[in-house]
Amino acid sequence: MKKLLALLLSAALSMSVAIVPVNVNAAAVSQKPAYTNHEIAKAATYVYINKTGTTYHRASCKLLKKGCTKITLKSAKAKCYTPCSTCKPPKK
Ligand SMILES: [Zn+2]
Repeated sequence: MKKLLALLLSAALSMSVAIVPVNVNAAAVSQKPAYTNHEIAKAATYVYINKTGTTYHRASCKLLKKGCTKITLKSAKAKCYTPCSTCKPPKK
């Protein structure tokens, strides 16, 4: 039983440690002008596809080849592309 308590305590401690940086980030984000967040929400998400293959990628993905195409996530999904498991691009 003591072991379980110690486990719970360490879990609670690691959670409180994890929460602190999140709060700091939230404060930093809220300091930005409100319209910036609005514009990000409005903008289309772009992903990258190779000439061959059925997966879409982030711009930084190592699996992207020369001559890859930038398309909106919406059209990638419409063309039945699936998210790359290496770079894990957004799904929506
Ligand atoms: Zn990728």
